[in-house]
Amino acid sequence: MKTQDELKRQLKQIDHKGYKAYKTLEGEYSFGAYILCIDHVQGDPFATPSRVRLLYKNSIPAEYFESRHRKAAAEDYLLRRLHRNLRSGGQERRGSGKSGMVTACRTGQEVLERTAVLLSLKTVEVRLEVGFPAYGRTIAAGELEQILFGFLPEAARRTFVFGPGMKKELDEATALADDQQYIREELKKQGLAAFVADGSVLPRESGISQKPMKAAVPFKSPDSTAVTLQLPHRGPVRGMGIKKGITVIVGGGYHGKSTLLKAVERGVYNHIQGDGREYVITDETAFKLRAEEGRCIHQVDISMFISNLPSGTDTRNFVTENASGSTSQAANTVEALACGSQVLLIDEDTSATNFMVRDDRMARLVEDKKEPITPFIRFIRSLYQDLGVSTVLVAGSSGAYLSVADTVIQMDCYVAKDVTEKARTLAEEVTQGKAEERNWVKKPVPAKRIEKARVHGWDTLSFDKTEVDLRYLEQIVDETQTAALAYIVPWLLERSANGKRTAAELAVLAGEKIRKEGLLSMVPRNYGAGAPAAVRVQEILACLQRYRMI
Ligand code: ADP
Ligand code: MG
Repeated sequence: MKTQDELKRQLKQIDHKGYKAYKTLEGEYSFGAYILCIDHVQGDPFATPSRVRLLYKNSIPAEYFESRHRKAAAEDYLLRRLHRNLRSGGQERRGSGKSGMVTACRTGQEVLERTAVLLSLKTVEVRLEVGFPAYGRTIAAGELEQILFGFLPEAARRTFVFGPGMKKELDEATALADDQQYIREELKKQGLAAFVADGSVLPRESGISQKPMKAAVPFKSPDSTAVTLQLPHRGPVRGMGIKKGITVIVGGGYHGKSTLLKAVERGVYNHIQGDGREYVITDETAFKLRAEEGRCIHQVDISMFISNLPSGTDTRNFVTENASGSTSQAANTVEALACGSQVLLIDEDTSATNFMVRDDRMARLVEDKKEPITPFIRFIRSLYQDLGVSTVLVAGSSGAYLSVADTVIQMDCYVAKDVTEKARTLAEEVTQGKAEERNWVKKPVPAKRIEKARVHGWDTLSFDKTEVDLRYLEQIVDETQTAALAYIVPWLLERSANGKRTAAELAVLAGEKIRKEGLLSMVPRNYGAGAPAAVRVQEILACLQRYRMI
């Protein structure tokens, strides 16, 4: 390892030279109190900024990161604290392009496992991006010296040295994480698919902001569905326990149905203090299903829902480059089953009607055997009874699902009411088919090398110029998760795909690897697609299955 003096000398040597000379700085430097690693230097001032890492001796007590949920919360807190200090440090652009910009991984309302700050017994490791400064394409080494020797270590020191101010905030963040974790464990013990605490603020500020709505009607559980949990820090919290089985959410248009379901969707992640959904917690495997016209399907068994297509196509091994509403939703359903989802979340608004129901009159007009689709409603009970898979479904206009529901919740001017009894009197018999475990996702994935993965916002990425459309994956919450997929999928295709394993097997394998070895085990050191955050097996499989070139 080199010393900080050597770095200073090197900076003097390359000052005013062409930008490429910055490359010679890649390496590790000891600064006494910390180590600076310049992992990757950008090619020019306008490119993605250079990747830099700082390694400090850790002064934060181990109790803050001894369990997985606490570690995620503490690291998330430190990252947000770093953002504050980077902003208050008066950092500004110095020169052309991204010169002088110092940034760390962005954060949103969710607490995700990230790689930007990593705590261990010995060290705090911080990953940042620094735009190495230039005027035109000429190195401005003096500016970089000010950043690497002044601004950056100063901001980092203020962020990572343990003291009373930090302790208080860290206590709060980790206490919240303990309470959230407690609810997650309680869901399993009490047979619940989700918990929505009284007082939660479910609606968001706007369609483009995930911040809480200001004058929202706070959530309150009906008495009949209320559960009170004794949280380790906060004490008793009452809320709606959404039981395993089948829950149908009804109500007039604009009464808050989709808002409740969306909150439940996001409840697979923990939220930060002040979000309003801190105590909305959902089974971590829950998957939002929807229609997704146009997606590709690679050898998936959708025959449970669709068979006898007029074309004679084999739906046990269904392949298409351009799925319809119903075939896409069928594929989404069985892919969720393939990666072990225990709860399916469905909104009528975003579903294919013919996948969801088939009404009597239509059944009389067009005989069953002429209709290739057996709707979801015919399997919903068996999915639960035989496979243990619950459904939470929003049904505003079709009454059919009332007949199969265990619980019916009505949203009435944003107030939840239990209308199960009343709904029961209206219920009609629905013939039920049997859902059986199968090998849903069949295509053996051949090995493949991807040269270039790029992230274009949270909803699209590309592998060697082939776009992968992730727009309909409503549980991807930010771009850092898309960035993770941009590393994980190429890693899997290059190293684990062997022409035998299916995409579902690859996704499960990735999930295990990330759990055991961390996300960094699949991210190259000179990562180029942005700072990654943890994604679930569900989203990994979804991404693989939407990649048209596998
Ligand atoms: P639905 O699915 O029943 O048609 P939505 O869930 O889409 O209704 O909600 C309709 C509107 O009401 C949205 O703009 C949403 O932000 C707002 N909204 C939802 N819940 C609340 C609430 N608890 N307090 C205030 N506004 C809400
Ligand atoms: Mg709606």
